[in-house]
Amino acid sequence: MTKPTHAKVLILGSGPAGSTAALYSARASLEPLVVEGIQPGGQLTITTEVENYPGFPAGIQGPELMDLFRRQAERFGARYLSGEVTAVDLARRPFTVTLADGTLTGDTLVIATGAQAKLLGIESETKLMGYGVSACATCDGFFFKDKDVLVVGGGDTAMEEANFLTKFARRVTVVHRRGELRASKIMQDRARANPKIAWILNATIEEIHGEPQGRGVTGATLKDTHTGALTKVATDGVFMAIGHTPNTRLFQGLLDMDEYGYLVTEKSSTRTNIPGVFACGDVQDRVYRQAITAAGTGCMAAIDAERFLELD
Ligand code: NDP
Repeated sequence: MTKPTHAKVLILGSGPAGSTAALYSARASLEPLVVEGIQPGGQLTITTEVENYPGFPAGIQGPELMDLFRRQAERFGARYLSGEVTAVDLARRPFTVTLADGTLTGDTLVIATGAQAKLLGIESETKLMGYGVSACATCDGFFFKDKDVLVVGGGDTAMEEANFLTKFARRVTVVHRRGELRASKIMQDRARANPKIAWILNATIEEIHGEPQGRGVTGATLKDTHTGALTKVATDGVFMAIGHTPNTRLFQGLLDMDEYGYLVTEKSSTRTNIPGVFACGDVQDRVYRQAITAAGTGCMAAIDAERFLELD
């Protein structure tokens, strides 16, 4: 079978937003084409158990959930292509996207390229991701009941994650690389007033200890940013809260973005500033960033695209 090269609805990204957009537009007989991107299934594929996706009372593994999303969309005719988009042309319709091995065109374009948590960039962090290292307290906090965890970062996300984690953990220690926090005063005050939160300032994480096959994270080596001294601390988990980056590099100068690089959509819709281009999921959501909210906006994007094509 030859590879499809054109679609009425061309979707970039295959996380909860992209696959839900695919499901809805497939059921509207629009035969959407989904470009999977560099992380097929999106961020959920790097988590382990997902317990907060409604409809799965016993929980479900992140990769399995994304496989179900995809199969449900394919059942109605959605087509998935593996590949990474290297360029887009939104100046005229059909819109064109360039992949390593050719180009695709779409009468409408749904951007669901997601965001990624910033990471420290150390090897042990990658090795232990999902085994005690996490970048999402909402997703994984529950697994740290009565445990000790570190939260890395000094911004609002770190304060929020630290506070949230105190619902489960015995002790939460915020590790921040400077002496002053970046977080807003109200968030700092709330965290400082929480008796379960301890603070290690002027410190970075040099190494995270543990084995994925064993009991996961067991400790971390911290480096004092003033003296360079190394200290080993015991911990059961390390939460990265040093910010997120939306995957919007391809759209710079083409689509409206906010000051953080997230795509801007019109209120109560997924419309971007270019008619026929829609954005859904984490790429346009700096606030909620949940699978269920991404799926919700993916549904909105499919409906918006369908209506756009009807009026076209
Ligand atoms: P921020 O960019 O505000 O903060 C990131 C923090 O991580 C900073 O303290 C930074 O340190 C630290 N950091 C960055 N890179 C590294 C690194 N490589 N190693 C160690 N530490 C690092 O991101 P947030 O995600 O916290 O917030 C993003 C935006 O979202 C903000 O505008 C925030 O106000 C908003 N937000 C609002 C919330 C609310 O109102 N409820 C909740 C969450 C976020 P340094 O300070 O030294 O740069």
